Amino acid sequence: MRILCLALSITLLAGCTSGPRIDDRYTAIGQNSRVQYIVLHYTSTDLPRSLRLLTGEEVSSHYLIGDAPPTIYRLVDENRRAWHVGDSQWQGRTWLNGTSIGIELVNQGYYEGPAGRYWQPYAPAQIDALIELLEDIVRRHQLPPGSILGHSDVAPQRKVDPGPLFPWKRLADAGLLPWPDAQAVAQQQALFAKSLPTVAWFQQQLQRQGYRVPEHGELDEATRNVLAAFQMKYRQARYDGEPDAETAALLMVLGGPAR
Ligand SMILES: [Zn+2]
Repeated sequence: MRILCLALSITLLAGCTSGPRIDDRYTAIGQNSRVQYIVLHYTSTDLPRSLRLLTGEEVSSHYLIGDAPPTIYRLVDENRRAWHVGDSQWQGRTWLNGTSIGIELVNQGYYEGPAGRYWQPYAPAQIDALIELLEDIVRRHQLPPGSILGHSDVAPQRKVDPGPLFPWKRLADAGLLPWPDAQAVAQQQALFAKSLPTVAWFQQQLQRQGYRVPEHGELDEATRNVLAAFQMKYRQARYDGEPDAETAALLMVLGGPAR
C-alpha cells in the first residue's frame, strides 16, 4: 500500500495517507437512517425550467421526476441535505430539510382561470415512476407507514403542493400510505352528522396526525389552512377548510399518530 501511495503521489500531490486510520471491523446494532420523512412537491413549471431552478439556485431536491417521459433525475445525494422544504413541522419535529428526502414532480400546479382555480392533472406514468422510487427509498431507509408527506402537510400556512389532484390513494393502494377504511368512515360520519365535534377536537385530532395547528379552539385562518391540507389528501372533492362531519370521520378512523 505504501509503495502504491508513493507511486500515486508522484502524479497526485494529494496523498492517500491523509486523514486518520479507521478500523471498520465492528458495527453497532443501535443505528438507523437519518431520513425520517419523504416530502413530495410539484415544481410549478416545465422540465427545462425545473432543472434550471433546482440545480442553479439555492432551492434543490434529491429527486426530480419529469412528466413526459417520467425520467427520474437525482440532483442531490441522499446522504446530503437538499433545500426543498424550509420552515416546516411534522410530529413536533421542525425544519425537515435535515431529516427528509425531497422529491419534486414536474407539474404546473394551478392557474387562476375564469371559472376559478385550474389544477394540472398528474400523468399516470409519472406517478408509476414515483411509486417505484418511493418503494425503493422506503425499503432502503426502512421508513414506517405515514412517512410520506406533502409539502402542504408540513407547511400548511405557506404551501399547497403537491395539490388536490395528487393521487394519494394510488400511494395507499401500493401500500405506501395508511388509508381510512371507507365503511368505517361512513359509519362515523353518520354519528358526527348528528353532533359535530368542537373546533378544539378537530385541532387535537389534526395535531395527533402530525400537523402543526393552533390549539385555542377558534376556527381561525391558520386552522382552516390545516384542515384544507388534510382534506386535500384524504377528501379531494372538497378542501374548503370547513370542519364537517366527513372530515371528523376521516380523522377519527385514521387515528394517530400515523406512524
Ligand atoms: Zn414544495
